[in-house]
Amino acid sequence: MEKNPVSLLEHPEQSLRKKSIYDMTYEQMEDWAVSKGWKKFRIQQIYNWLYKSRVDSFEEMTNLSKETRKALSEEFEFTPLELVRQQIAKDGTRKFLFRTEDGALLESVMMVFDYGNSVCVSSQVGCNMGCAFCASGLTKKSRNLKASEMVAQVMAIQKELDRSNERVSHIVVMGTGEPFDNYENVMNFLKTVNHDRGLAIGSRHITISTCGVVPKIYEFADGHYQYNLAVSLHAPNNRLRDSLMPINKAYPLEELMKAIDYYTKENNRRLTFEYILLNGVNNSVEDAKELARLLRPYNCYVNLIPYNSVDEHGFRPVNREEAMKFYDVLKKEKIAVTIRKEHGSDIDAACGQLRIKEIRKGRK
Ligand code: SAH
Repeated sequence: MEKNPVSLLEHPEQSLRKKSIYDMTYEQMEDWAVSKGWKKFRIQQIYNWLYKSRVDSFEEMTNLSKETRKALSEEFEFTPLELVRQQIAKDGTRKFLFRTEDGALLESVMMVFDYGNSVCVSSQVGCNMGCAFCASGLTKKSRNLKASEMVAQVMAIQKELDRSNERVSHIVVMGTGEPFDNYENVMNFLKTVNHDRGLAIGSRHITISTCGVVPKIYEFADGHYQYNLAVSLHAPNNRLRDSLMPINKAYPLEELMKAIDYYTKENNRRLTFEYILLNGVNNSVEDAKELARLLRPYNCYVNLIPYNSVDEHGFRPVNREEAMKFYDVLKKEKIAVTIRKEHGSDIDAACGQLRIKEIRKGRK
C-alpha cells in the first residue's frame, strides 16, 4: 500500500465559477472557437495539448499565441480534482481517492488485464439506487459528477501511467453512482475520452453499467452508440430482485427485459448481465435454472461477480466451488457465461469502500 498525497489543483486560488476545460467536448470547443471568431483548427491544437501532451496549464500550450492562452484562461480552468490517496494492490490494481472542489470524495480504480489497463470511473457523489449489498449506497447521492470530473479521473490516472509509458486502454463506468441517473454528463465525458483527438479510447473498450433505469436504456439504444452496455441483474425473478434492488420496484423485470430486447435488436449487439453471487441468497441451482430461462431469448453474456464483502450489509460471498456449480448450470443451459476475476481484494476494492472509510474518519 502506498500513501501518496499529490495535489493536482493547478490554480487553487482560481475562481470556482470558471468552467473546467475538461467539460468541453470537441464539438463544444469548436463552437466556442467560432464564437470567438477563431478558426476551428485551433481546437485541434488545444485538444492535442490537453489529451496528447497532457499539459497541466494553458501557459504550457506554447504554439498558441499569448492572446489565445489568455482567452482560454479567462474562461476555463484545469482539473477540478485533487488526488488524496493512492493504494496499490499486489496484483497491480490501483485505487485512487479524489477530492472535488466542493470537498466531496470520490474514487476510481485501475485494473491491469492482459489486454490492457481498465479504469473504473465514478459517475456521482454517493448513489440513490440503494442496492442492498453495495457500499456506494451507504451515502445518498449528494450530486451528479460533471463531465470534467469524470474526464479528470481518467486524466489523473493516465498521467500516473505516463511515468511508465503505459496507457488507459479501457473504461468501465462502474464506480460509485448510477450513470443513467446522470446521462448527459456521462455521455459528454465518454465523447471526450473516445474522441480521436481526445484520449482515443475505442468505443468497444468502453462499458457503461446500469442497475436498470429503463427509460435511459431506450434513449441509449436510440443513440446507436458503439459502447458496451452492462446491466446489473443479480436476481432471476421480481421477488428476489425487489428485495435486493429498489429500482426493480420502479422498473420490474418484464419492463427491463423489454427495453433490453429493444436495445439488442436496434443495435444488433450483445449485452452483458452482471450477477453477483450472494451466498444463500441468489446462488442456488434453482436460481441458476430460473436465470437461464429468463435470459435464453436474449443475445447476451452473463458475468458472475464474486461478492466483495461490505461490513455493514451482512451478505457473504460464495467459494470457488459454489461459483462453479452456478456457472455449470448456466453453461449446460447454453448461456454464455464467465466468472469475473477478483481484483485488488487486499485494498478495499468494492465500489465505494475507500470513500466510506475516509468519510467515517471524519476528514471530509
Ligand atoms: N449503478 C451501476 C454502476 C455502478 S455498480 C450499476 O448498478 O450497474 C457496478 C457493479 O458493481 C454493479 O453490477 C453492482 O451491482 C456491483 N457491485 C456493487 N457492490 C458490489 C460488491 N460489494 N461486490 C461486488 N460487486 C458489487
